Amino acid sequence: MNHPKIHLNLDGQEMEVNPGTTLLDACRERGASVPTLCHEDRLEPFGGCRMCLVELDGAPRLVPACKTPASNGMVVRSASASLERVRGTIAEMLMAEHRPASGGRPDAMEKVAKRFQLGAPPIQFPLRDEYRDRNRFIGFDTNACILCNRCVRYCDEIMAVTALEHFGQGPNAIVQPTDGLSFLDTSCELCGGCISSCPTGALYEKEAHGIAESACETTRTVCTFCGVGCVIDLNTKDGAVVKVTAEVGVGPNDGHLCTKGRFAWQFIHHGDRLTEPLVRGEDGVLYVATWEEAYARVVEGLSKVKESYGPDSIGFLASSRCTNEDVYALQKLARSVMGTNNVHSCAAT
Ligand code: SF4
Ligand code: SF4
Repeated sequence: MNHPKIHLNLDGQEMEVNPGTTLLDACRERGASVPTLCHEDRLEPFGGCRMCLVELDGAPRLVPACKTPASNGMVVRSASASLERVRGTIAEMLMAEHRPASGGRPDAMEKVAKRFQLGAPPIQFPLRDEYRDRNRFIGFDTNACILCNRCVRYCDEIMAVTALEHFGQGPNAIVQPTDGLSFLDTSCELCGGCISSCPTGALYEKEAHGIAESACETTRTVCTFCGVGCVIDLNTKDGAVVKVTAEVGVGPNDGHLCTKGRFAWQFIHHGDRLTEPLVRGEDGVLYVATWEEAYARVVEGLSKVKESYGPDSIGFLASSRCTNEDVYALQKLARSVMGTNNVHSCAAT
């Protein structure tokens, strides 16, 4: 059933939107630039930071666009001199509560500068202690936290894990892993989604060593850890991967990743990684060989087994890290060359 459209006036122009549309959605649809901090499209509207305040005729005060549903006859203004002033004051108050440049981490400084459109470093306030956690992947610089609760809500609404909490009130309020424990002692799954959701870089990838995004090249690819096909961006500096990110709205994962997809990339540059085929000599030791020698050994071994025990004594298992084309070629090898249907991929289960 089609619900009737809602008619409102935004910035002097009439527009119609679907029921359930918020004023923020309407502004975006119109191309009006409204700043946000605590808002994340993947999360329920929160209305916590007040950066997206707009003027609504008849309302006693400014209203948060992210949390106000559009309704018939509304007259809304998304930009004015007084809105600029109010948003500026709110940004200053948020900045006064934290020091995003703490420790001089370029990634946090860059994130905050982009968000707040800063030309100069923010006011310097005494540092709280960095939350030192023994987990290997997620760093938490509480000085850069503006208590927007995006990470807490991400963990709750998306992951259904609640490994982060907003604790305390007023000037004593903090965000922390639940009960102030290490991430490793909470129900945290180390997915790193809270990092992707954090607008200030307070939560960050430890192994990226604070390298700013603008210092990295990104290469879009598909994660090979399982068969879901999550789209990932390899962030590289000087030819080496420094972190993995995922863009919201892209691929089946929509910016989400599991712990392997986000953090288990060190094998790429690991010294133990095999880069050449190895063939076992008669002395039992593995020797570097050419691909031709390696293939010849495989053919010899499989042929002997087939001759002695029949084709169904052989099975082929494809890694989930193979591409579809690799897996197709493997089942061809199994069925057409070896004559067995014993073929499977762990991505199928
Ligand atoms: S890593 Fe994932 S599970 Fe752990 S706190 Fe962050 S969002 Fe929650
Ligand atoms: S850690 Fe980041 S996402 Fe979480 S409340 Fe602080 S600023 Fe917001």
